[in-house]
Amino acid sequence: MVDNQGEEYLFKIVLIGDSAVGKSNLLSRFSRDEFDTNSKATIGVEFQTQLVEIEGKEVKAQIWDTAGQERFRAVTSAYYRGAFGALIVYDITRSSTFESVKRWLQELNTVAQMLVGNKCDLEDIRAVSVEEGKALAEEEGLFFMETSALDATNVDKAFEIVIREIFSNVSRKLL
Ligand code: GDP
Repeated sequence: MVDNQGEEYLFKIVLIGDSAVGKSNLLSRFSRDEFDTNSKATIGVEFQTQLVEIEGKEVKAQIWDTAGQERFRAVTSAYYRGAFGALIVYDITRSSTFESVKRWLQELNTVAQMLVGNKCDLEDIRAVSVEEGKALAEEEGLFFMETSALDATNVDKAFEIVIREIFSNVSRKLL
């Protein structure tokens, strides 16, 4: 969804990936600078709106979290509808979450996509290498970043790259 009247921009962005990879915590780190050590499945809250300034313009990113539904792979098309960007998240300590990335990608059709290897603070129990992440991102034409919602590494950066990419795609179309 884009509203460029009065110089206002609103972009929907979705967070996807297997259960417990850290989607909710990435969002709470980005939107409130918080990490919730007892976080359970997201219930009720469907999105957070975050204001970002790009080239002097106010851009609102409406970021959707799957509300725990990914466990049943029942994320419906309504969730993706109107999305301009997506962050596909895996957990660098669980290979199975990395192997799921391609399946998540098959369901998507958005403009800007970022592959996110979360929990990079857990280097000791890493199961997916940085190179593997990078290679997959390259193969699929995605941006790539390793993040930690726990210690805030690269979290703002990951979201902001997606938001900026959407902004530049949209402004190009408006010209
Ligand atoms: P979601 O199901 O994908 O939304 O995942 P959550 O955000 O609920 O996180 C699942 C679990 O991983 C929780 O126990 C979090 O505390 C933990 N977690 C999330 N992000 C990180 C991170 O960056 N580092 C570490 N060490 N744990 C994390």
